[in-house]
Amino acid sequence: MRLDELSKLRLVPGEEVCVLEEFLPGNGTYEHEGIVRSTVVGRPLIDLDLRVVEVRPASDRVYMPAVGSVVYGIVSLVKDEYALTRIYCDAKCRKYLTTFTGILYVSQISDTYVKSVYELVRPGDVVKAKVLSDTPPYRLTLKERQLGVVLAYCSSCGARLIKHGNALSCPACKSSENRKTSPEYSNIKCV
Ligand SMILES: [Zn+2]
Repeated sequence: MRLDELSKLRLVPGEEVCVLEEFLPGNGTYEHEGIVRSTVVGRPLIDLDLRVVEVRPASDRVYMPAVGSVVYGIVSLVKDEYALTRIYCDAKCRKYLTTFTGILYVSQISDTYVKSVYELVRPGDVVKAKVLSDTPPYRLTLKERQLGVVLAYCSSCGARLIKHGNALSCPACKSSENRKTSPEYSNIKCV
């Protein structure tokens, strides 16, 4: 096998990496009957000087939010000008190894003018947001139709708010609150 082909392989455990004559088995590999095989899901890494191949586990690469990706986060702090969120998983509910800080400016909440973030987003809300920058703190937006709050709790009593049309109301104390909600409100599996 050619070297550039080998380095592009994405291996699963037990899969052949190369024959022993090509490279010696390094970390993440084992040899059986002259065949070097992978012990992990990952990519081969070749040391030409030592003539050794190892397989780096895919999970070694930290999975992080990317520009344009949709993420879920919990709102941790709200000020008039911005809210801070802890981003914990992606659009497919795949959890990140750690949480990332997201910042949501008041100008990114709605297409219409919003004076204070607190009008439409509150601490403890779970938001579905799109990522606008590629380094933390990740700038977020809720502007698109499918984005917004997907779960919220009553500011008075803490009960889970229920969506009726565009409004949220509390089943316990009957108060109503405003949010920029997503159409997926209370229909998300990863909250
Ligand atoms: Zn309530």
